[in-house]
Amino acid sequence: MTSDGFLTDSGVELERAFGLVASDTRIEILRALWDVRVSDGEGASFSELRERVGVSDGGRFNYHLGKLVPEFVRKREERYSLTHTGAKLIGDAVSGAYTETDGPSVRQAAVGDCHISDCDGSTTVEYRDGELRFGCDTCDRRPDAVPVPPIVVESNDADDVPVVGSRFSMLTVERTNRGFCHLCDGPIEQTVARFHPDFEPDLDGSVDVIHECRACGEWRRSGARGTLIGHPATVSLLYDAGIDYRAVPHWEQTWLNEATERVVDEDPVRVAVTAPIGGTEHRFTLDGSLDVVDWE
Ligand SMILES: [Zn+2]
Ligand SMILES: [Zn+2]
Repeated sequence: MTSDGFLTDSGVELERAFGLVASDTRIEILRALWDVRVSDGEGASFSELRERVGVSDGGRFNYHLGKLVPEFVRKREERYSLTHTGAKLIGDAVSGAYTETDGPSVRQAAVGDCHISDCDGSTTVEYRDGELRFGCDTCDRRPDAVPVPPIVVESNDADDVPVVGSRFSMLTVERTNRGFCHLCDGPIEQTVARFHPDFEPDLDGSVDVIHECRACGEWRRSGARGTLIGHPATVSLLYDAGIDYRAVPHWEQTWLNEATERVVDEDPVRVAVTAPIGGTEHRFTLDGSLDVVDWE
């Protein structure tokens, strides 16, 4: 699937939307409405809002406010408040996505054993350019880079960043597994790479799965085991084994690190993932969309 059409169609829209907020006064209006939202949530009248923003020229203020309606600001019964899009814009600014271009970084640290079976090295982690990067200090395994917003890093001690960042990345994976794009909220499709017209398998020892957004075209690759993260079958087995998987960083998720997976049927597509949970090997059978169809 290609997203070219979508991006071309929305390119003009996107430019217009960015243009709408490209003004200090409009940013100040959004900020003021955010303050109103978190204080009483009832919205603000024109005069209250103008006073908060501190613009004396009523005509100029009205012009800028009008540009933000209806995308970012809603007007109802003579009161102004943020739309979800307006609130999301402020939320993203708070998380540092737009402002922290030269954001925080955390120096490389070792967090555990490398999961490659014939490697005695350590898994390393570092944070820079908005990504938590996992690699190995010994072997040349493909490094993982997961997007983690600056606020997650800044609101924790440096020593805790690898674990908290890993928990955040598991959340992103679960979100994708539930079918929502982490960038645009659009629908995600999961396909085994070797049955996908545009992708070649690229992961050693795994059944490559492509997670692809039908709206924006964002995609990522993972082993088939990754689609089991957050699935009720694995969550309940882990819970019965005394493991709260949400609290465990991914390099300590032995059920994932020691899992094996292979395509067992092509028509219809069936993928078998075997994972050790609670001292027992469990075998999960997934279909071509990576839904669990059977487990034992
Ligand atoms: Zn290694
Ligand atoms: Zn998307």
